[in-house]
Amino acid sequence: MIITKQKELKDLLNRLNDKSVFIVGCSECATVCHTGGEKEVLAMKDVLQKKGVNIVGWVVLDPACNLNNDKRLLKKHIKELDAADKVLVLACGSGVQTVSEVLDKEVIAGIDTLFLGEIKRVNEFEKRCVTCGVCELDFFEDFCPVSRCPKSMLNGPCGGSVNGKCEVNKDMDCVWSEIFSHLKEKGRLHKLKCIVEPKDWSNSVCIDRRL
Ligand code: SF4
Ligand code: SF4
Repeated sequence: MIITKQKELKDLLNRLNDKSVFIVGCSECATVCHTGGEKEVLAMKDVLQKKGVNIVGWVVLDPACNLNNDKRLLKKHIKELDAADKVLVLACGSGVQTVSEVLDKEVIAGIDTLFLGEIKRVNEFEKRCVTCGVCELDFFEDFCPVSRCPKSMLNGPCGGSVNGKCEVNKDMDCVWSEIFSHLKEKGRLHKLKCIVEPKDWSNSVCIDRRL
């Protein structure tokens, strides 16, 4: 799932600049993250109205990153959208860009897009993937060091780990400690003799942009 977090209200108010605003949410990842579902859209509407922002309408798209759905659903709000100076989108960066492609309006990203992650429990997420483009998880026993190690170490730990914790963030397990424990338990420590080549980022879909 795409993990997002709410932006600071003062940053949003600066961007909205006292203009008339239409708010857009997303029924998928942003709903699960509690950053852009109906509840959060209505809460944002109330907060902004209390700050004097004129809210002309709102909708939760299903989902915001679907171009044809956006065209169809936003058409139903054409009058409210006509009255809006700006559109505030509470969806991931992909959803914001899709809405922007449909509307001839200034579109403001209302939340920050962080990573692809796992839901541990309600409102608690862990980074699992940064969409590097060529997945080599099998080298690492399905613990991704590209996303889960702050230094993206591909061939063993950096040397700073203490008692299995990461030197960059002591609340976080060192992913290489996890990889080692897992390989040991499964009797596959020999896999560590294999040198993983540096990532060729030119293979990343980040470069291709389109599939
Ligand atoms: S290797 Fe790349 S694609 Fe695979 S999980 Fe890690 S970041 Fe994601
Ligand atoms: S301690 Fe482990 S997870 Fe942290 S930066 Fe070093 S290798 Fe990466």
